[in-house]
Amino acid sequence: MRALVKTAPGPGLELIEVARPTCGAKDVLVEVTHAAVCGTDLHINRWDDWAASTLHPPVTIGHEFVGVVVEAGDQVLHVAVGDRVVGEGHIVCETCRNCRAGDGHLCRNTVGIGIHRDGGFADFIAFPATNAYKVPDSVPDEIAAILDPLGNAVHTALSFDLIGEDVLITGAGPIGQMAAAICRHAGARHVVITDPSPARLATATRMGADLAVSPGEEGLRDAMSTLGMVEGFDVALEMSGQQAALADIVATINHGGHVGLLGLFADPPRVDLTEAIFKGLTIKGIYGREMFDTWYKATAMLESGLDIGAVVSHRLALSEFADAFDLLERGDASKIVLDVRI
Ligand code: NAD
Ligand code: ZN
Repeated sequence: MRALVKTAPGPGLELIEVARPTCGAKDVLVEVTHAAVCGTDLHINRWDDWAASTLHPPVTIGHEFVGVVVEAGDQVLHVAVGDRVVGEGHIVCETCRNCRAGDGHLCRNTVGIGIHRDGGFADFIAFPATNAYKVPDSVPDEIAAILDPLGNAVHTALSFDLIGEDVLITGAGPIGQMAAAICRHAGARHVVITDPSPARLATATRMGADLAVSPGEEGLRDAMSTLGMVEGFDVALEMSGQQAALADIVATINHGGHVGLLGLFADPPRVDLTEAIFKGLTIKGIYGREMFDTWYKATAMLESGLDIGAVVSHRLALSEFADAFDLLERGDASKIVLDVRI
């Protein structure tokens, strides 16, 4: 079968022929139809410090994918051949304290599909059936392929009471854009989003943001006054991984506000948190998706009118992966869905 593989340490990826994975007693074997490229895949392609210290080539990459189950192990009960499934990309240990308490997203022994073990940019992938999530028929393949990052946005946004609240999202990458749609869908009063990229701001507006502005306290204060906000944002979702965005949040959030931190900082952020103390902020770090409540919430919202279609900017074939990576590196794309069948 074909697979997009990091064959050896160093930059680049190769689409090569590899053996089809075997399906263990607790696994499903999935024939992948669509996959999507994540920022993590760009790090792996570039082979930055994080990738070099995390991956052990050869490894097939990709953790955002959808496909059809073609084989299920003897001990698999809840998934059957023919089911259309996505894979939760975090395989958890099921034995640590948090796993045993039902909080798999807090597992301290997480193994990443497409990072620590072979992923979904391939004709077939085998993974534990407990990580398979059946997709409702009403969710099209290209949206199913991006349920993983949608889940990041859902997990972050729904960590807080949004109804009637004023929400600030810093970072209008695909996850910030989807978060704007979720906050609107979940009943926020005002949704303001920041990003230096006008194109990304325009998409965020299409997806539900009331105002999309350049980063910086001054612009945010103007936005607040345009919307008639007097006190500050009630909820802030950090989705850029930039220190400057954290400063914008601390400056403009109301006393008693809630902050979700999803963005990953390339360098440790240096931010004076004294104001966060005086303001009595609640700050929550977000990793991955809650298993599997986030998945139920995400698909239930899609079935009840949440529209994230605008986040998919390009559709390409797996064989065109190099073009997809170039488009994303240049910042000329949002989500790119790859058709793995061609
Ligand atoms: P992305 O890199 O496409 O988007 C980040 C956006 O932030 C870009 O559009 C960029 O222009 C913008 N930005 C840069 N400086 C800014 C500033 N000062 N203020 C506001 N915006 C600014 O990333 P994405 O795929 O949308 O993911 C969002 C973040 O979440 C990334 O940092 C990613 O690494 C992280 N992430 C975390 C998890 C997790 O489990 N915690 C999972 C997935 C992604
Ligand atoms: Zn665990």
